Amino acid sequence: MSQPAQRHEFQAEVKQLLDLMVHSLYSDKDIFLRELVSNASDALDKLRFEQLTSPDLGAGDDLHIRIVIDKAQRTLSVLDNGVGMTQADVIANIGTIAKSGTKEFLSAVKGASGKQMPPDLIGQFGVGFYSAFMVADKIEILTRRAGTTVATSWESSGDGSYSIGEGAREQPGTTVTLHLKPVDAEQGLHDYTEERVIEGIIKRYSDFVAYPIRMAAWRKKDDKPSEVKVLEDETLNSMKAIWDRPKAEVSESEYREFYRHISHDWTEPLRTIPIRMEGTVEAYALLYIPAKAPFDLYSPEMKRGVALYVKRVFVMDECKELLPQYMRFIKGVVDSHDLSLNVSREILQKDRQIQIIRKQLVKRVLAVLEEMKKESSKEYFQFWAELGPVLKEGLLGFDVQDKDKLLDLVVTESTAGATALTSFDAYVLRMKEGQDAIYYLTGATREAVSKSPLLEAFVQKGYEVLLFSDPVDEIWLGQDVKFKDKPLKSIGRGEIKLGSEEERKKEIEALEDKSREYGDLLACLRVHLQDEIKEVRLSSRLTSSAVCLVSDDHDMSARMQKMLKQLGQEPKKIRAVLEVNPGHPLIPKLAAIFHENKDDPRLKLYAELLLGQAHLAESGELPDPAAFSKVLADVMLLTA
Ligand code: ADP
Repeated sequence: MSQPAQRHEFQAEVKQLLDLMVHSLYSDKDIFLRELVSNASDALDKLRFEQLTSPDLGAGDDLHIRIVIDKAQRTLSVLDNGVGMTQADVIANIGTIAKSGTKEFLSAVKGASGKQMPPDLIGQFGVGFYSAFMVADKIEILTRRAGTTVATSWESSGDGSYSIGEGAREQPGTTVTLHLKPVDAEQGLHDYTEERVIEGIIKRYSDFVAYPIRMAAWRKKDDKPSEVKVLEDETLNSMKAIWDRPKAEVSESEYREFYRHISHDWTEPLRTIPIRMEGTVEAYALLYIPAKAPFDLYSPEMKRGVALYVKRVFVMDECKELLPQYMRFIKGVVDSHDLSLNVSREILQKDRQIQIIRKQLVKRVLAVLEEMKKESSKEYFQFWAELGPVLKEGLLGFDVQDKDKLLDLVVTESTAGATALTSFDAYVLRMKEGQDAIYYLTGATREAVSKSPLLEAFVQKGYEVLLFSDPVDEIWLGQDVKFKDKPLKSIGRGEIKLGSEEERKKEIEALEDKSREYGDLLACLRVHLQDEIKEVRLSSRLTSSAVCLVSDDHDMSARMQKMLKQLGQEPKKIRAVLEVNPGHPLIPKLAAIFHENKDDPRLKLYAELLLGQAHLAESGELPDPAAFSKVLADVMLLTA
């Protein structure tokens, strides 16, 4: 006895999404077909994969997609004989949105200005199926999971609920039937009961789908007068695997279309990299460098990795073993001719073939980036702004060769150029005579580093400093890096002496004189700040600011400690060094107060104000804003 249909409410997020689709803000409505075909193709991939271990599953080898038009009923159906769904699958996949992307999709749509939905939003967030509600006011699904006998029938008018119950389907697979809205050219609603229209959309979006997409259409017979027409089954797509065709035979637009297909990204990729490997391994690959960072680049759930095929048979999406984590933005496919079809994830991790392929892919991507950097700095800087921070994660890795290549690729801001980014290579060419290190400064924001008081003496004496403000910079630069033979030195660490031998000697002497003069004051300040500060000393870094914070040569930087805390760790508290500018008029004033009465209560307040200023200059933030406000108020009371 078949179970009666039941009504279910859509999850709140699905309702929102449906509402968006029904009152579609999106102008290119044709893409609904690409989404349905892509779902069908995925279902066929899954079945083919399962057939490797259960050959009797499903409908044999004639895996295909079929499009059926009913002009009288104004319906369009997309059928596949793929893996199908159980009733539980349908409820889980169609009625709810488990994927984290959807919430972000909704907020991205809300954030988008105007009424038009940006074209790259659909699909990128995996909301494909629902897009069919742009063109249909009712959708039915009839599906049967391969390996089972019962079918499930689902129906919804996109109004917040759906009904689901048992149905009958002769073969496993899925049929999605759309009850089409009336044609409305102004709204972008074409006549999807016209074969020509469907053919055009399939050619445009789904030509390389690996399974035949068939449709029965009336055709004029070649050898007969034009009036005679017959109903013929036609395959609408070419099914050519784009990656194993020679580059010269593939057009730019084919490459682009394939990129859209695999990435759901509607922006053009920056680079297309076809790769052919012969010799110890035989494989084809087609990789793309996207122009934009995907929205979930830093999410642990990000879909990363390229798709893996074995001799044109789909094996898996998101094969993480083929590219390192720091290249997770690369999209593409790899088709190996040596691997076995039923490789498991565990095998992949150790597989020598995979290791070799991965090395080759990394090499090629790095080489292409290097080329891009040489060809057009404008384009490269755009790439870098989007994806540079991820690439720099590679500098934390173990591969020395790759690291050297990555260092060549790093570009960053510098005190020498207000707008353009610079590379280590270019920096080295501009180094002053006698300069033996590459100077850099890290900070929490671009603002904070570019305005840091630590730069004062460097700028005044004409030394260029590279500026870094991505979180990852703090980590890789903390590892004693060298570029070629030049060490990278943080100007926020240790003591720094600039200029020629002679100038340095003079400066040391001058500082020693001043230290004698202010020694007792510095010791007094240190006592007042001893919980936070391990030393108070005179600075040769500052020319106009009164104070700054620096770390000792081998201590963990304050920012690194903060980052570790954010990650839930408890780093050992390392106190910083407070440097004081002997040339600042505040210092002799403080010295005068000190010499009058070394227990003057103002000295403690002033010490805390100085430390607060140093914190503000370093990061724009105070470790304890309430305490600082209180000190400020106390100081005002003294003078009010
Ligand atoms: P996406 O395809 O991005 O995952 P969709 O909303 O288009 O999102 O589809 C949701 C899920 O429904 C799919 O991931 C798949 O599990 C299932 N599904 C959709 N169409 C089919 C189909 N033709 N055959 C089998 N399963 C399907």
